[in-house]
Amino acid sequence: MKTLFQNGIVVNSNLSAELDILVENQLITGLFQRGTFIDSDSANTTVVDATGLHILPGGVDPHCHVGFTSGQFTSLDNYEEATRAAVCGGTTTIVDFAIPELGESSLEALMRQKKRIHNSFCDSAMHGCIVNLNSDVNEIVSEFEAQGVRTIKMFTTYRGEVMANSETIMEVMKGLLKIGGMVYVHSEADHIISENQLVAIQNNQIDSSFHHRTRSELAETISVAEVIAMAETIGAPVYFVHQSCRGAVDQVAHSKAFGRSVFSESVLHHLVLDDSVYESENPERFVCCPPIRSRETVDALLEVLKNGDVDTLGSDHCCYNLEQKELVKHDVRYMPNGLPGVETRISVGLGKLVMQWGLPIERFVAISSTNPAKLNGLFPKKGIIAPGSDADIVLWDLNSKHTITGTSLHMATDYTPYEGIETSAKHIATYVRGTIVAKNSQPLEKNKIGKFISAEMINFNLK
Ligand SMILES: [Zn+2]
Repeated sequence: MKTLFQNGIVVNSNLSAELDILVENQLITGLFQRGTFIDSDSANTTVVDATGLHILPGGVDPHCHVGFTSGQFTSLDNYEEATRAAVCGGTTTIVDFAIPELGESSLEALMRQKKRIHNSFCDSAMHGCIVNLNSDVNEIVSEFEAQGVRTIKMFTTYRGEVMANSETIMEVMKGLLKIGGMVYVHSEADHIISENQLVAIQNNQIDSSFHHRTRSELAETISVAEVIAMAETIGAPVYFVHQSCRGAVDQVAHSKAFGRSVFSESVLHHLVLDDSVYESENPERFVCCPPIRSRETVDALLEVLKNGDVDTLGSDHCCYNLEQKELVKHDVRYMPNGLPGVETRISVGLGKLVMQWGLPIERFVAISSTNPAKLNGLFPKKGIIAPGSDADIVLWDLNSKHTITGTSLHMATDYTPYEGIETSAKHIATYVRGTIVAKNSQPLEKNKIGKFISAEMINFNLK
């Protein structure tokens, strides 16, 4: 069977064009000027009419936590739930994290998390995570490579849990050079945050309405500076997750200007929300790390996004519900950090960043699909509509205004941080390797065809 997508506007990271797409055996096999494909075998071809619609490569979410345990809390979704929400929101590949729990080795964490992958609606890949090095880094890195993993998450904060020291981060950076991999760093200086929190406790300001004051921008920027210095010293690439302020992104841009492979990820909530959410009735719903920043910082971040200094857009999806968010809202040090977002990353992103703020749609495809595919070793299988690539295809109507409500979403939680936000991007259909898995924001339950995808050597060229 073949599928022909006709009359739509195909958007890749480098251009938009009126093209028809031919799909056979899970792959894109041809792109044709609109109306020029002559089908000699039309009885065996399903035609999808995309008149008036934009056709984007399936979203690749580089930052998505599935069933993540931290402290006393575990986020609520399994692979079936997380990927159901992903495809209803136009994402066709998620990259999850295998973060060791207390007493678990990095490799044990990876095997445990990989075992959870079943009943998926879309494909997935995995980041490893190293906290301590208990054996030779080259051995560990080769084992990750054999498991299809070339990206390793490391933290400069959460002392006593997942924080790695600087020496360990440098060792892992070196080790990954040998397999064409890269360290993904959560950069916030732990000692600065400890001081921020100490002052907050003294002032009786440690509840969730003060969350943004307990993790300063300075804590983020100073940590980014140190990690860039490590990477430059070794000559290793590095990727910063969820950069929340201009000071952090600017340092990456500066290093990039010298030809270095340094990358900046934004997550949607840092671009769409501002710290007035902590003055709302339910500030605990917005507790995430780094926190939601001031209006001034958000505007500056949007500016560097438009300048082209932000490389990827993640969700940092972490699916806690209101009961979990409310349990220790009086003390942010013990709260579950993170917001649900795998389903809203593209729809709210298209509505806000592209339709409202004028980010070119090709650039949006670059940061939400193409670049994450490249920086996870998944390109050109994922992240582009081109012959030879997986037929991961999403149809959008960009002129259909509607309001985001938590009750219409599929994530395993009972709220969305984007409640009441207007978007003009309406999901029409998601195809994973040629099979339709969601239609009009609703899943097709029988089509759970997702599988784990191994990372190849990373393509650091985002041009
Ligand atoms: Zn995260």
